[in-house]
Amino acid sequence: MANIDRRGFIRSLFGITGVLPVAQQMAEARGQVSFFWCNLNNGQVGFPTGLSVPTERPGSIMKLVAAAALIDEGLYHGNEKYQCTGTYTIGKEAVHCQNAHGKIDLTQAIGKSCNIFFAQATKHLTARAFLDKARQFALDKPCAGTASGAFPTEPSQSGSLHYVLGLAPDLTPSALQLMRLAALVGIAPGAALAPLHSAENLDLKAKEPLFVSPLTALSHKVLADGMRLSATAGTAKKLDEGDKLKVAAKTGTTPHGNKFQSYVIGYFPYDKPAHAFVLYAPSGTSQDSAVPKARGYLMSTTWP
Ligand SMILES: [Zn+2]
Repeated sequence: MANIDRRGFIRSLFGITGVLPVAQQMAEARGQVSFFWCNLNNGQVGFPTGLSVPTERPGSIMKLVAAAALIDEGLYHGNEKYQCTGTYTIGKEAVHCQNAHGKIDLTQAIGKSCNIFFAQATKHLTARAFLDKARQFALDKPCAGTASGAFPTEPSQSGSLHYVLGLAPDLTPSALQLMRLAALVGIAPGAALAPLHSAENLDLKAKEPLFVSPLTALSHKVLADGMRLSATAGTAKKLDEGDKLKVAAKTGTTPHGNKFQSYVIGYFPYDKPAHAFVLYAPSGTSQDSAVPKARGYLMSTTWP
């Protein structure tokens, strides 16, 4: 383990196999990323990289849903810690973290994206309870005139772990749904989100109901603090190193053929959210690809 490089390590996390479909190989070769943003006050969505909306496995972004489910189901009360030694076995499955995170709480586990914390903390979280929370975050509903990604009608997994880690093949929300997830975390608990609609293509009509933050005061605080920690000292710390926009964020990396794909979602400013965003990178881990590419978009404009 000591000599394995970062890429090799992450590949070993997921037991990567298989090859990419040709269309995906070509998109990767072009290095196309997808970036979307929305204005939380008026619901306008921008599509600067085009109208094609990816629907891929979200990886660790689903830890936000898991964290909310743990708190709101009464399985986590705000302070419990779990030990991360870098490797953990649950049933026949080994779960890994790149570094041993030590004894950490849920806020830190979100910020550092600790797989082992979540594997332990969600032992008693059922797939059904996870999916109920995912539904409350509208991960089964269209967004800004675009269809929902795959969402299971019945859990295909016996436990919740593959959903929690965002690796289940039957839960592939669209990039816009993940952006809306960030927005719903950012607004106040119980507050309604302005209906999201395209600011650029009026053919994509908004026909959405009002979505309301499903969080409680406690789950909102833990998720918001965890996303803020991610952006300041965790997996997304290179997103805004000068803290110009005061971002709160969450990353996700998943295997993609024999490579990786990655996401970063977030909102800003963290203390008075006005915008949310998502970036999907078809190639590379979140730290190598999604985060630096999102930084490029976020820093290349003046946000109102
Ligand atoms: Zn860990």
